[in-house]
Amino acid sequence: MNNIDEKLQPILAKVVQRNAGEPEFHQAVHEVMESLGRVIAKNPDYLEQALIERICEPERQIIFRIPWVDDQGKAQINRGFRVQFNSALGPYKGGLRFHPSVNIGIIKFLGFEQIFKNALTGLPIGGGKGGSDFDPKGKSDGEIMRFCQSLMTELFRHLGEQTDVPAGDIGVGRREIGYLFGQYKRLSNRYEAGVITGKAIAYGGSRARTEATGFGNTYFTKAMLETRKSSFDGKRVVVSGAGNVAIHSIEKVQSFGGKVIACSDSSGYVVDETGIDLPLLQEIKIIRQERISEYARLKGAGAHFVPIGKGSIWDLPCQVAMPSATQNELSGRDARKLVQNGVEAVGEGANMPCTPEAVRVLRKANILFGPGKAANAGGVATSALEMQQNASRDRWSFEQTEERLAQIMQNIHDHCAETADEFGAPGDYVLGANIAGFVRVAEAMRMLGVI
Ligand code: GLU
Repeated sequence: MNNIDEKLQPILAKVVQRNAGEPEFHQAVHEVMESLGRVIAKNPDYLEQALIERICEPERQIIFRIPWVDDQGKAQINRGFRVQFNSALGPYKGGLRFHPSVNIGIIKFLGFEQIFKNALTGLPIGGGKGGSDFDPKGKSDGEIMRFCQSLMTELFRHLGEQTDVPAGDIGVGRREIGYLFGQYKRLSNRYEAGVITGKAIAYGGSRARTEATGFGNTYFTKAMLETRKSSFDGKRVVVSGAGNVAIHSIEKVQSFGGKVIACSDSSGYVVDETGIDLPLLQEIKIIRQERISEYARLKGAGAHFVPIGKGSIWDLPCQVAMPSATQNELSGRDARKLVQNGVEAVGEGANMPCTPEAVRVLRKANILFGPGKAANAGGVATSALEMQQNASRDRWSFEQTEERLAQIMQNIHDHCAETADEFGAPGDYVLGANIAGFVRVAEAMRMLGVI
């Protein structure tokens, strides 16, 4: 707790004590608290009003049983979660994650991050998150549909376009959103398009939503590089992951002249010194849904596969690193290696992919570091644009939507940079993002009374 203001230490201690066994949630709260000392020094009223304690306590947490029948006719049980964290700025907004690692602590960490991320977009969305410990790997289409329908049969009563608006996250893409929306529509007997985002274009989705998180992180990282008169042009870039975020980061980095030399999935990573062949990667990961080793096999010369446990993707020399797989995937050791190899910028595409030690190493070495709650906010920002289009029964072109996204990312970047300057830490995007996000939510909460 040594980096935390002594007035905030009892608040953090209480969060840890009353949310026992939730290390990821503690980590996320700890990281925000590290930045808030400077805020309460300027504004002691936040302490008197218990605003920090209130923000750390979800408004509502829902945990429920999800029964479903597999293809063999056997009943299965999973656990469902929705944490409605904060609605000071708008309806709860945040994705659903399907992954066996999901538990209440993971959903709380994600929901907590989402509050500040959503505030940073400047759009009227509160923070929430949900999901299940369901493992979509190896499940048939019918099993996925039955599972999504069962989940929504419970969750629908807690949702609404003015109440709580889920979207995708790890393990939840277009297909799942379709099944979830279909069941919501059936149970509520309402065509409430804005109740969920990440929909297909065919029934109310927004253009550029699929691309938005990866594109957004690339815009944010580009803006950081520009503050040092640098750019992606000719840079060696490593992007971890091979899902939606990674694929569209690779696409945008390449369009800015960067060369992405590696990406990964949970089985290992591939290196391609000639630059990742995006159509081939998409064919393998999205269409065929195969392991990433297939990329190296099909690409042949110049590419090779390194299985998990046989080395770290962050050992590869690069100038820009974009961790876009999952939480705590980049360790202190990895960060030291990146620094040794001359990394200039790290933009977090995933939520909290760098461990606290990694963040310390990067900040100490004065590397440009874009924390996820700022750098990956493009996804949820475009979800809010999808809600806008649904509310006005309109649809925008790809160009129009991407232009709004690019502008939002530049604004988030500038707002974080200006806040860091104002609070005496120029170039510190972690501090800037935490303070700028917190202040926006705290000010709204203050005006709404003790809620
Ligand atoms: N799951 C994404 C995130 O972490 C997007 C959430 C949304 O669009 O609501 O921000």
